[in-house]
Amino acid sequence: MVKKVFAFALLISGLIFSSGCSEEKAVSEADMSSKSRDVFAMDTFMNIKAYGGNADIALSEAEKRILQLEDELSVTSETSDVWAVDHSSGTAVDVSDDTALIVNKAIEMGKKTNGALDITLYPVLKEWGFTTGEYKVPDDNTLKSLLKNVDYSKVSISGNKVTLPKETEIDLGALAKGYTGDEIMKTMEENGVSSAIVSLGGNVQALGKKPDGSNWKVAVRNPFAPDTDMCIIEIDDKAVITSGNYERYFTTDDGNVYWHILDPDDGYPADNGLVSVTVIGDCGLDCDALSTALFVEGYDGAVEFLRSDPSFDLILVTDDMKIFYSGGIADSFTNISGMEAEVIALD
Ligand code: AMP
Ligand code: MG
Repeated sequence: MVKKVFAFALLISGLIFSSGCSEEKAVSEADMSSKSRDVFAMDTFMNIKAYGGNADIALSEAEKRILQLEDELSVTSETSDVWAVDHSSGTAVDVSDDTALIVNKAIEMGKKTNGALDITLYPVLKEWGFTTGEYKVPDDNTLKSLLKNVDYSKVSISGNKVTLPKETEIDLGALAKGYTGDEIMKTMEENGVSSAIVSLGGNVQALGKKPDGSNWKVAVRNPFAPDTDMCIIEIDDKAVITSGNYERYFTTDDGNVYWHILDPDDGYPADNGLVSVTVIGDCGLDCDALSTALFVEGYDGAVEFLRSDPSFDLILVTDDMKIFYSGGIADSFTNISGMEAEVIALD
């Protein structure tokens, strides 16, 4: 079985945020100066802007925290928690509080999304080459045999001790950046910063409002033309996290396109009608876990989830080029694409 979609240009993925200069002019001299820091970590360009407080210290502390999280969570670094867990041959491994928290969340979200989020897919992702860039389409038998060891419910955690079955390996890539956004915001607050925004590849997270009291404007990319924006939403104190098929993919000689979010049911790229899912909510970790899971679940699963938990907002883009967004952001959603957009009907 192959999954075929359109081909499109390879472009840097994710969301951009507007830090409009005109708004910044409206604030007092003292608050006006934003401090900014670029960090490359977790395979991602990150930018943090902080206003007020001890912004310089906050940014330095945030950078340290990002690098610490990368050290703990990297699936390829031989000194990380995840590496230790993946090379434990079935024995219990002591991990940091960060890793334990994320593993617990991954198991919880795995349950809530009927296994759509499955951190034990790592051996399958490796087989596709998504971890190295040496892409190939695995044969069905290889996939079947690798899938025998894929089951998030077999990850056991007690306190800070994680135990996996012998052939099982985990990867926290679907959640790590969301958690990192939360931790950056904590660092900002601890250093008196009341207004900050961070862009981590496809994710944006804001602390408070802009220093002039207005909302942040966040642009969500058009998955059909990822160098252009599809819509703009206004947020304060929220994470805006997108999973899309355009973020990492490869095309074979016969024109088939394969992307990095896999369906744990068959080990193939999830192809359930959605090309991107944006989750907007208070907690970056939750939004990140959900964006990946709902991409796998498809439109019906995503709407069902929204019904069960309306504390989140969603922007879903279907493979027939339609945008569906939840009622909670209806007043702050501006469609700047030529695509049809409608509010998700929950009844
Ligand atoms: P995100 O960009 O947050 O949607 O995360 C996608 C990344 O999570 C991929 O690049 C893989 O490393 C990993 N991944 C892919 N499919 C799944 C899945 N169904 N469950 C958990 N992690 C996944
Ligand atoms: Mg995610």
